[in-house]
This record gives sequence, C-alpha cells and structure tokens, in this order.
Amino acid sequence: MSTSIADIVHFLEALAPPAYQESYDNAGLLTGSGNWDCTGVLTTLDATEEVVMEAVSCRCNLIVAHHPIIFGGLKKITGRNYVERTVIAAIKRDIAIYAIHTNLDNVVAGGVNGRIAQRLGIVGGKPLLPREGTLQKLYCFVPSDHLESVRAAVFAAGAGHIGGYSECSYSVEGTGTFTAGVGTNPYVGEPGRRHYEKEGRLEVIVPTHLSREVVQAMIAAHPYEEVAYDLVPLANSHPGVGSGLIGELPAEMGETEFLDRVRREFEVPVIRHTRLTGRPVKKVAVCGGAGSFLISRALAAGANFYVTSDVKYHEFFDANDHLVVADIGHFESEQFTVDLLFEVLQEKFRNFAVLKSVVKTNPIKYYY
Ligand SMILES: [Zn+2]
Repeated sequence: MSTSIADIVHFLEALAPPAYQESYDNAGLLTGSGNWDCTGVLTTLDATEEVVMEAVSCRCNLIVAHHPIIFGGLKKITGRNYVERTVIAAIKRDIAIYAIHTNLDNVVAGGVNGRIAQRLGIVGGKPLLPREGTLQKLYCFVPSDHLESVRAAVFAAGAGHIGGYSECSYSVEGTGTFTAGVGTNPYVGEPGRRHYEKEGRLEVIVPTHLSREVVQAMIAAHPYEEVAYDLVPLANSHPGVGSGLIGELPAEMGETEFLDRVRREFEVPVIRHTRLTGRPVKKVAVCGGAGSFLISRALAAGANFYVTSDVKYHEFFDANDHLVVADIGHFESEQFTVDLLFEVLQEKFRNFAVLKSVVKTNPIKYYY
C-alpha cells in the first residue's frame, strides 16, 4: 500500500492546522507535489542543502522541517544564497519539503512548547497568549426525530471539543414554525399553510477552521430542504491554542538548580539570563524560538522563570527583577521538535522509513 505526500500533509495538518500559523508565516508544502508516493520522511529543524542531500542518500523524498526554507518571496532562483541553493537542490532531485512552523508552535500540548515543558518537568501547561478568533458557535434547529443523527454528524466533523472533553453540546426542545412557499418540497407540512413542528435547538462549539465541514455535515444529516442555523463568531480564546506556554513545576526549586536543569536537558553550553530574584521557582513560562514578545505576558501571568531565545539586550531589562528571563539559543530551544515530528510520523506510518536528520543545522557556534 502506498502513501502519498498529501496523506502525510493531511495527517500533520490535523495535528497542527495551518489556520493556527501566524500571519507572517509560510508553513505548508514548499516544494514537490502531494501526488507523489512517499518513499520515506526525514525530519529536521531546518531544511538546508545538506539536509536535502541527506534525504537523497536515505531515499526519503519528503523532508518535514520546522522552519520554512522559503519564508519571504523568492524573486530569483540562481543559487546566490542558501535558500535558493536548497530550493534548487530539492527541485532537481524531486524532494518535497513541508514546513510545520508557527502552527506547531501554537498547538500548546502537542506542539513545540509542550515538548519543552515536558523536558523541564512543567505540568498543567496553558497558552501564555491564547489565540482568539479560533472558535465559533453553531446553533441549528432540527426536528426532534433527527436531533441525535445531526448531533452525531457535527461531532464526527470536528465540533464539540472543549479542552480535554469531546462531544460537548447542548439542546433544548421547542416549537419551530414555517410556511412552505411555491415550488418547495417540505419534509413535513403542507405548502401554503403555517406548520408547527417539535424541534430541538442544538448548540455546539466549532473550531473556525472546520466550520465549513461541520455545516456541510449538519446539512447532510438534516431532513429539511432549507436548514435554519446560525454560525456565530465567539470572543472566547482557545484553551489549547496560542503562543508560548505557562505551567508549574510539581515542587519548588532554587533558581540555580533550575538553571542547571535547563542546561542539562537542552545541552546548552551557556545560558544568557537576567539577575536572579532570590525567590523559588514554581511557575515557569516557555516559548521555543524567538520569544521576547511574550516577556510582558510571562510577567503578567506571574511566572518566576521564562525560558526562550533570541532576546535582545534591551529586552532583558523588561524582566524588571520580577522574573528570570533565560535565553538558551534558538536551535537549542526547538531541538526536540525533531523528536516530536519523528515520533508522531513513525507511530502513524509503518510502510516507509521515518528518520531524524543527523545534520546539526544550528548556524551558531560557541567559543568559550
Ligand atoms: Zn524557530
């Protein structure tokens, strides 16, 4: 049985929906075709020319990378820089490159930050900056004898998830009215005469990116010719989707003890950090990759420690002696994303090889 590149993309996009990527991002299939049969997958943080050659030698025609190699526009492809050379190498050798970037950052539990939290022993992680505009409420009016089949259909299409709970809905019985007009074919009642029907009002929460599928499933399971429903955007933020993560250590630790843990777990030669506060560490915030935009959120959330990377000189001042900001390096902070991608793909697909790149793509070296 063969698996297409599109099958793998479909699986990854259920894990980290493209709708959750940031507006500046360029996640998705960057080279190659979804129609190709997959011969093997190579997972990596960065798809560089060296990683493309590694994929060729391992007979993997799909690279699943965290960072999109094509990020801004490409106006010329002549091989002047590493982006152009990587794209040329991939196209010449029929290598597909798929990037799963800020959409994977923003899926808190199963994403980049969930893996960092796991490494540091942080439990109960929630988004530091929950994402808004991701949820809608569907209200639909269903004759009582079809209420359960419509409920099952919208659940199957992805509605009704709240945190760790699934199949969440609410329904109440009432009476609907309608008068069928000329040329209609009503499920019940006579054309031209007002009809009263026992109906249930079904309410269910829907992820915005699945609302089309859920509405289609509802209409397909509904007996009426014209289905009455309301799809309403919610101001609620998503409990499991957003930037960064905040959680707690099961027991308090000293600040240097925690720094030691970070250094050991992430194998970092050096950690740049703000002045220690002298208080024990209990609440910890993390953000893989460039995370200085969340320092104020970590402060407001009462974090004792914020582990991230790419913090600039002036941004360290923002810690204001209320928390310790620790910059562990961009590559180091996100390195376990490769394990995450490797594990989920290996578990799902057994009919081709899933490998982890052995190329150390970190462009930063340390002299100490
Ligand atoms: Zn990154």
